[in-house]
Amino acid sequence: MGMKERIAEIHEAMLRELAGTDEMKSLEALRVKVLGKKGDLTALLRSMGQLSPEERPAAGALINEERERITALLEERAQTLKEMARKEALKRETIDVTEPVTMPAIGSEHPVTLVMNEMIDCFTGMGFEVVEGPEVELDHYNFELMNIPKNHPARDAQDTFYVDDNIVLRTHTSPMQARTMLTRKPPIRVICPGRVFRADEVDATHSPVFHQMEGLVIDKDVTMADLRGTLNAFAEYVYGKGITTRFRPSFFPFTEPSTEVDLTCAACHGKGCRVCKGTGWIEVLGGGMVNPKVLEMCGIDSSVYSGFAFGIGLERIAMQRYGIPDMRLMYEGDVRFLGQFR
Ligand SMILES: [Zn+2]
Repeated sequence: MGMKERIAEIHEAMLRELAGTDEMKSLEALRVKVLGKKGDLTALLRSMGQLSPEERPAAGALINEERERITALLEERAQTLKEMARKEALKRETIDVTEPVTMPAIGSEHPVTLVMNEMIDCFTGMGFEVVEGPEVELDHYNFELMNIPKNHPARDAQDTFYVDDNIVLRTHTSPMQARTMLTRKPPIRVICPGRVFRADEVDATHSPVFHQMEGLVIDKDVTMADLRGTLNAFAEYVYGKGITTRFRPSFFPFTEPSTEVDLTCAACHGKGCRVCKGTGWIEVLGGGMVNPKVLEMCGIDSSVYSGFAFGIGLERIAMQRYGIPDMRLMYEGDVRFLGQFR
């Protein structure tokens, strides 16, 4: 058999086996079988010694050509196998987006936080600025500057947590009104949201810690009508169109005149229902014109400037808004309760 025929035989055999390789391991075995030290083509190369010197160059060239062809075929097959393996892996690793998974628990905002943020949006939209201050406060700011002198009934030890004779846990956010008036020149337009403390027994409507938001406006020619307009805008923003205010005379040491403010019952829109005990009104906040004595104590000339102030209990608003029957629910931290408000 001539050299050409033997090469053709090796080539045919190699092609048959090549088609059967389905992984890199069997391909490598085939390479060794043909091109390895003991491979078929290598053996053919060795057998050239038997040829005459004249025949050897031509035979060597043929064998080398075949080696290159086979190398190219093996390389091509290797690429094909790699591509197949890659497709197979992709198929295996495909993510099934319809598969049910356990979602991580996501928290929700506290109802008081929700109400506070909504009210901050409402008042900042009307040009108010948020000011915050210390919860442990000097008697001077909490009481004296609010026209509540020593021996005033509001100072009764039952109502106030005293740290010592001159330091209290603030009983309202009003000390921030005093601090603001003492450090700024009118016009002043601020809201003071925050925690306040009263030595109250815990029950369905009382807690020793609760939240307030007070508002203060000081400028020339500020009247009770401005307070009314501001609170009407607040009522519609928080409770919706058609909700308005009703003012009833009241008394607070730091305002003169003072008023309790009722809002139209949002549950019945004033017709009278169980929520408003048939009156059509819900008591929501207190306010009035800033007492001139307070203005003077805080360094503002009461013959030039006037102002109004109001204070809103945030828990009460949250309880009405979300129909929460018991204030204690808001402080127990039960996620089954808290998770309902989103
Ligand atoms: Zn009602």
